[in-house]
Amino acid sequence: MARVYNFSAGPAVLPEEVLREAADEMLDYQGSGMSVMEMSHRSKVYDKIIKDAEQDLRDLMNIPDNYRVLFLQGGASQQFAMIPMNLMKKKKAGYIVTGQWAKKAFQEAKLYGEAVELASSADQTFSYIPDCSDLPITDDMDYVYICENNTIYGTKYKTLPNTKGKDLVADVSSCFLSEPVDVSKYGVIYGGVQKNIGPAGVVIVIIREDLITEDVLPGTPTMLRYKIHADAESLYNTPPCYGIYICGKVFKWLKKMGGLEVMKQRNEEKAKILYDFLDQSKLFKGTVRKEDRSLMNVPFVTGSDELDAKFVKEATEAGFVNLKGHRSVGGMRASIYNAMPKEGVEKLVEFMKKFEAENA
Ligand SMILES: *Cc1c(COP(=O)(O)O)cnc(C)c1O
Repeated sequence: MARVYNFSAGPAVLPEEVLREAADEMLDYQGSGMSVMEMSHRSKVYDKIIKDAEQDLRDLMNIPDNYRVLFLQGGASQQFAMIPMNLMKKKKAGYIVTGQWAKKAFQEAKLYGEAVELASSADQTFSYIPDCSDLPITDDMDYVYICENNTIYGTKYKTLPNTKGKDLVADVSSCFLSEPVDVSKYGVIYGGVQKNIGPAGVVIVIIREDLITEDVLPGTPTMLRYKIHADAESLYNTPPCYGIYICGKVFKWLKKMGGLEVMKQRNEEKAKILYDFLDQSKLFKGTVRKEDRSLMNVPFVTGSDELDAKFVKEATEAGFVNLKGHRSVGGMRASIYNAMPKEGVEKLVEFMKKFEAENA
């Protein structure tokens, strides 16, 4: 068996330890005589799995009691609609457009009400986070929406926007559990888990209790109401059982590693190895304004499409896979999520140095 260093943006690398544990439990989960995949979501055994997962996530993120945790389906993209359907009471909200995912959410919200673009970094190919200290937020807006870490472009908010008292809604798909957060600063935090937590098919929504109401836009399907899922404790219908089980294992792994403070240090160390190299390289260069660099997704280019392609090909052959940049931006991107070991980043940089010397 040969595991590669997988720099995919998502679905992405998971902790090897978690995969081994899941493999061990595949045929017989803790004496139940069956796989978690074969188990009723109403069983006692599964109830413990989902309850433990929620508790471990609460412990990791220090989630206050007045926030609910929902395990849902439909990916992060379904939240682009669920958020306005459930929260746009006054039919108006502000969106900060820092990349494709923010833009998609913004466009979706326009189907349900007046979505206002408060700021954008489209003028420089989303390579920076705009100044969000004094945005044109008006009193009649229901919330302010951001994509906190821009997976495709490699930018991250280092300070949250001044929302002028409005609830902040954040898509954290690609920075979920990468560092500590103050949940109380948000109305809603959500993310698809396939970037930094688990297998595709689960989206986690952390939402302040008072935002969960019956008062949703007319025509909102039952399955798209937060209240339905909150009242049923994420078991209104069959949840993505196996995916939640793996998320739970990753939460336990994160706790064992020392929690989010430790993950933050590790992630800073890993990112520094790569950014320091990019900053002195004569061949490779980063594409993002330094202050706004993501710890999770690191895009870079050589300046030549041919050399980019050659690099991706040779890197793949050497066991560094999924380094091709998003189809919309080209170049390269190394996603270095929680589960990417430091050694993987060090070896990638060694490989880049060698490539640079050979192609000088
Ligand atoms: C990947 C990604 C999405 C889309 O996720 P799906 O689960 O495929 O819908 C949305 N937002 C961000 C920030 C992402 O990285």
